[in-house]
Amino acid sequence: MKTDCLFCKIIAGELPCDQVYSDEHVIVFEDINPKAPVHLLIVPREHIISLNALEEKHDGLMGHIMRLLPKLAKEQGLDKGFRTIINTGSGGGQIVFHLHVHLLGGGGLGGTGF
Ligand code: AMP
Ligand code: ZN
Repeated sequence: MKTDCLFCKIIAGELPCDQVYSDEHVIVFEDINPKAPVHLLIVPREHIISLNALEEKHDGLMGHIMRLLPKLAKEQGLDKGFRTIINTGSGGGQIVFHLHVHLLGGGGLGGTGF
């Protein structure tokens, strides 16, 4: 845990969140400022700053997250599809420097997403 990290504090239970899923590798909670009717954040329990900090030891974790995404989407009723986003670094729009995957859906997400 990194003591000054917002998502580490949420994982530690020091800050509240609207949690929708949890296991030994990740927690999943609702984005506080949703950009779509469904907007979840999939957050590894390990403090990893961004995709840039991934190592080979994280391959299993990332595979776990990729396979979890469609399960969460199904649970959320996103039967028409969903969007996933990982912002990396300030130039990529990352504002919380603890790796997370956005899962969005539920209306109005057409086109390329840019
Ligand atoms: P990113 O730009 O990829 O770093 O996205 C960070 C996301 O975290 C944004 O969509 C914020 O709305 C969201 N966020 C910030 N603080 C909280 C919080 N306390 N609980 C839930 N989501 C948060
Ligand atoms: Zn963290």
